[in-house]
Amino acid sequence: MYAWFLSLKTEDGGFRMNSTGEEDVRAVYCCLASAALLNILTPELVEGVADYVSRCQTYEGGIGASPGNEAHAGYAFCGLAALCILYDPRKVGDHIDLDSFVEWLSQRQYQPEGGFSGRTNKLVDGCYCWWVGGCWALLEAGGQPVLWSKPDLQKFVLSCCQAPRGGLRDKPGVKQDFYHSCYVLSGLSEAQYRYSFDGGSEEKHNKLGEWSFMYKFEVEHDEVVLVDDDNAVGPLNPVHVLPWQMGEQMHAFYVAVDD
Ligand SMILES: [Zn+2]
Repeated sequence: MYAWFLSLKTEDGGFRMNSTGEEDVRAVYCCLASAALLNILTPELVEGVADYVSRCQTYEGGIGASPGNEAHAGYAFCGLAALCILYDPRKVGDHIDLDSFVEWLSQRQYQPEGGFSGRTNKLVDGCYCWWVGGCWALLEAGGQPVLWSKPDLQKFVLSCCQAPRGGLRDKPGVKQDFYHSCYVLSGLSEAQYRYSFDGGSEEKHNKLGEWSFMYKFEVEHDEVVLVDDDNAVGPLNPVHVLPWQMGEQMHAFYVAVDD
C-alpha cells in the first residue's frame, strides 16, 4: 500500500487518484487519511503536501481541486482535513490564509433553507452538510469561532433532506442515494456536537522508521443546538468521518501490528 501511495505522488506535492488519473486535493486527502489509519505516514510520503494544499486556496478563500481551480467545499474539506492529519489543528493557519478561508466558509449557509452551498452562487445541497459542516468541526476544534447556525442546519436536514421512502438526499425533488445519505447524516452529527483538540498526538514510530500519529479530538454534546431529541445521532472523528473512536481503534491496531 505504501509503495502504491508513493507511486501516485507527484513532484509538486500532490497525489493522483490512480496511476493515470487526475491530480487533486481529493487524492491528497484520500492518501493521507488512509496512510494515517494504516500507520504508514512518513515524511517522504507527505513532503510538499502542505505547500500543495496552500496553492489550492483561491482568491475567494476556499480551496479548489488543484491550483487555479474554483473554490469548492468538497475540496475545502479535503485540504483542511489533510492539514489536520499533518499538523496540530490549531496551527492550520500556518499553511492557509485562515481569515479568508473562514470568510468564504461563513458565506456557505443560506437562508431561509439553513443548508450549505458548495460554491459561490450555487444552491444548497445536503451533501455539503458535511463538506462545509466538517470544515467548521475542524475549525472549531482548532479554536476558531463558530460562525454558522447549527440549529438551522439540523432543521434543513430534518425538513428537506429526508426522502419519503427512506434515505437522505440533496434537496426536495431529488432522489435519495448512498452518497447523500452518508454526508447528510454526517453533517447532522456534526451539528449536534462540539469538537475540541486535546493537544496530544501519539508519538510512536512506525515500522517505516519515521513517525506516526493520530491527532486526538475530544467531543461533547452541544445540547443548545439539538433541535429534536428523537433525531440525536452519535459523534464522529472529524478528520476521518468515521464513527467516534473507530479510526483511533484502527490506527491502534496497525501500531500493534508494527510492534
Ligand atoms: Zn450533493
